[in-house]
Amino acid sequence: MNNKLYGNLIFEWSHPGRKGYSLPKNEFGHYDIPSAMRRANDAELPECDEMTVVRHYTNHSANNFGVNNGFYPLGSCTMKYNPVINEETASMPAFSKLHPLQPVDTVEGAQEVYDTLCKSLCALTGLDAFTLTPFAGAHGELTGLMIIRAYHESRGDMKRTKVIVPDSAHGTNPASAAVCGLEVLEVKSRANGLVDVDDLKALLETHSDDIAAMMMTNPNTLGLFEKEIPQIEQLIHHCGGLMYYDGANLNPMLGACRPGDMGFDVMHINLHKTFSTPHGGGGPGAGPVGVRKGLEQFFPTVGAYHGNFAVIIRALTYILTLGKENIKMVGPLATLNANYIKESLKDAYRLPIDGLCKHEFVFDGLADKSTGVTTMDVAKRLLDYGYHAPTIYFPLLFHESLMIEPTENESKETLDGFVDVMHKIAEEAISMPDEVKGAPHNTPIGRVDDVLAAKHPVVTYKQMTQ
Ligand SMILES: *Cc1c(COP(=O)(O)O)cnc(C)c1O
Repeated sequence: MNNKLYGNLIFEWSHPGRKGYSLPKNEFGHYDIPSAMRRANDAELPECDEMTVVRHYTNHSANNFGVNNGFYPLGSCTMKYNPVINEETASMPAFSKLHPLQPVDTVEGAQEVYDTLCKSLCALTGLDAFTLTPFAGAHGELTGLMIIRAYHESRGDMKRTKVIVPDSAHGTNPASAAVCGLEVLEVKSRANGLVDVDDLKALLETHSDDIAAMMMTNPNTLGLFEKEIPQIEQLIHHCGGLMYYDGANLNPMLGACRPGDMGFDVMHINLHKTFSTPHGGGGPGAGPVGVRKGLEQFFPTVGAYHGNFAVIIRALTYILTLGKENIKMVGPLATLNANYIKESLKDAYRLPIDGLCKHEFVFDGLADKSTGVTTMDVAKRLLDYGYHAPTIYFPLLFHESLMIEPTENESKETLDGFVDVMHKIAEEAISMPDEVKGAPHNTPIGRVDDVLAAKHPVVTYKQMTQ
């Protein structure tokens, strides 16, 4: 593979008169496009032969890293394998050729897909109704908070404008509350990483009648199961608030327990995390929102039509492929894999909170702090060894957070390979720290200056002269 030869911009491979296409015969030549609507000059398009175009884009695609290339332990993101059968069902013409404005009696199959996924999500979460419209987890949070707001307002309870969010929460939680016009009250975590119920009680003493909801992620962003939810749920409900479940970490719960049974009233699910649909640069997401009975009347309209329908088909395919019995193995296997890596590496990396984790866990950088090698350096060095880096510097509770989530699909050999490389990097941090601090060395782009990139972004490309 020679990235340089066909790399950079396709425009740089343009030569006047080169062609890589043949257009169908123009059947509309007799229509005269009004001159005001015609462009004065030809569009400046690259002129290339087909092979150059194919090599150019194929080489660029090879610079991408995804779950199909290698291990991708990006904590909090559940970078789950997207089974090929999902793609096959989503691309069936009976689905892919549908139009959202088609007469209802011609789309009964699509309706059945929609309803079956809603019913499956109800069964898996213990809630009573779902809307599949929201386009991402964050969009689901906003939708859920709009439901909660509408519920309080329908009862004339207009002063409930505060949302309690733990300090370990994902940044989208406070952001969604703010976008919904609600005010955030932060509740602290204890040294064991769980919500500090005493801090919550103190907060509720001054705020009990203006609380709209409490948002919780369980297991939380440290991968720890929030054991005191029964008490938290009682405290919040007692003061008239609702419980919101951020379902981004639903994966380890599958087959083990359900948010609805824990007293949550509203939740979102990230189909692109827990239910194996494409993620990030790989495709559009979906953030279905589920509610307890009685709240479905407050479902707002948050998007045209019925959400990312092709994503909905993929998620349902995944659920039906696993079936009722196998889906129960997802949570336990994800949990086993995370604990396996944690236990294998805790000699070399600092584990601030020991004990059993769920599907992910957080190291606080290397155990040996004398080398000066940071979490950033470890993450960059992993790229040299062909691994995607874990999530770094989140959650904010530790200085050197390194958050690892393997998911249930990975084999023991893959986990062992990652553990070996992580040990190797810990050794390199002592034996050749400068090499690690300068990483990555083998990627198409080396270490970028992230401060400069944020402060002085260069967003235009200067063409090279050939
Ligand atoms: C990913 C994530 C979100 C946001 O979901 P998006 O689909 O990326 O918008 C919210 N909370 C947690 C804990 C997450 O991991």
